[in-house]
Amino acid sequence: MPCEVWHSLLERCYEAETAYSQAITSSSGLVGVEFDKALQRAEQAREVSLVCEKALLHHEQMHDCIKKSAFAKAS
Ligand SMILES: [Zn+2]
Repeated sequence: MPCEVWHSLLERCYEAETAYSQAITSSSGLVGVEFDKALQRAEQAREVSLVCEKALLHHEQMHDCIKKSAFAKAS
């Protein structure tokens, strides 16, 4: 199994992506300034999710916990 750090990163990615799609959904009924605000929230959530994805990839490369777990399964 990947380590706990990996899991918490994945959870943060998931939360950010959920926040992004919720912000997009809630923006659909809005107009004017409220619409702009909703789009801004969506954009922020999208940025957070991108950062999380990068951190997740970085962790996988540095920590090797995914490969290790795959190896453990194979042997
Ligand atoms: Zn790890």
